[in-house]
Amino acid sequence: MNLNFSQEEIAFQNEVKEFLDKELTPELVNAAKRTSAVFTEKEVAMEWQAKLAKKGWLVPSWPEEYGGTDWNETQKYIFSSECANAGAPNLIPMGLAMIGPLLLGKGTKEQKDYYIPRIINGDDYWCQGYSEPGAGSDLASLQCKAVREGDKYIINGTKIWTTHAHLANKIFCLVRTDNTGKKQEGITFLMLDMDQPGIKVEPILTMAQDHDFNQVVFTDAIAYVKDRIGEENEGWAVAKYLLEFERSGGVGGSKSLSDINFIKKLVSKISSQIQGDDFSSIYANKMNELEIKAKAIQYTSLRILSSLRSGESPGPESSMMKTLVTDLEQEISELTLEVIGYYGIAFQDTSLGTNEPAIGDEDYRAVAGKYQNLRATTIYGGSNEIQRNIMAKAVLGL
Ligand SMILES: Cc1cc2nc3c(=O)[nH]c(=O)nc-3n(C[C@H](O)[C@H](O)[C@H](O)COP(=O)(O)OP(=O)(O)OC[C@H]3O[C@@H](n4cnc5c(N)ncnc54)[C@H](O)[C@@H]3O)c2cc1C
Repeated sequence: MNLNFSQEEIAFQNEVKEFLDKELTPELVNAAKRTSAVFTEKEVAMEWQAKLAKKGWLVPSWPEEYGGTDWNETQKYIFSSECANAGAPNLIPMGLAMIGPLLLGKGTKEQKDYYIPRIINGDDYWCQGYSEPGAGSDLASLQCKAVREGDKYIINGTKIWTTHAHLANKIFCLVRTDNTGKKQEGITFLMLDMDQPGIKVEPILTMAQDHDFNQVVFTDAIAYVKDRIGEENEGWAVAKYLLEFERSGGVGGSKSLSDINFIKKLVSKISSQIQGDDFSSIYANKMNELEIKAKAIQYTSLRILSSLRSGESPGPESSMMKTLVTDLEQEISELTLEVIGYYGIAFQDTSLGTNEPAIGDEDYRAVAGKYQNLRATTIYGGSNEIQRNIMAKAVLGL
């Protein structure tokens, strides 16, 4: 296993750095830093998306005919690491990392030709209608019902935790089209317009008061048969295919290292203000511990890349990475909160456009909200308990 970058890869890394120096403005970096929500604000993410799309670097893994690049796995790793190091906003995954790859893998030519450019150009903004009040980890229990009438399906039921449904113009959904067999059978995958009388979006605020997700109620909502992916009653296989993309995301330690650098900055600022070396020494061990974990994740990512380069499949490593990265993100947010002490108690509204001055240093503003919102990372995309079940089966043979 060779972990050193080649000359060509170093040249590529420099090209990425030059692009980021030019296009990633301080305003974008600050907007990304300032938000406490799990998902970047739509307008910030879409501004960054448009710059990447213009450069042709928005969807590196997609086929070139649909806007992708010819980058190898190492180049993709370099690109995402450099973006994380430079503080680039996270892109919104529902279009780019979920329905897009699914359409490319399982969509018809007509669906691909119509929807893929609209995802890249930002004409469509997607949300994901999988979970229901009675179906989360046990997703196959979903009950939102669709009945076929000619070239349409009529949908009735409720979806929940639907991220950015209040901002999206499109939703992809799992619906029940048959109740007679096993619960995994009788599920169908549909795409539909959010802007129609049969859809009502009800906000749910996070405990940090951010409006990220919603409950979506369908009352005779309409989807067209041409917007079905896969066959009727065969949506479970389609859903599982999509979840592989949802879980395999993540920069593998680079984002965590950049968050740890932020704690270092806070610690050194605070210790210079209170003129106490003790303050730094209290946190030195804890920061080192987190840094070691982040580096271990980074090297594990590189190990996975190295095996991909030699043609192997990553297997249950995507569950391992999801668990390690999200557990570490939570630990980092806990330490950041501990470092700012009493300033973490005050509620600071981080929604864009707030005119309220920050309480304490501007850098403290998003810390408490992030700490609260990041509890979600070990739940969404398949909770970490579910990932551990997968590893227990696939790695330990239990
Ligand atoms: C921030 C955020 C954004 C989300 N966005 C979306 C979205 O856009 N669209 C969407 O469809 N959904 C979304 N979700 C929902 C998410 O997919 C579900 O929350 C998740 O699948 C868990 O389901 P649940 O909340 O019903 O919890 P449950 O499934 O009820 O689980 C409750 C607890 O029991 C544990 N548990 C359950 N089953 C097992 C088991 N077999 N073994 C061990 N432990 C188990 C779980 O790990 C969890 O700790 C989002 C969730 C969050 C937090």
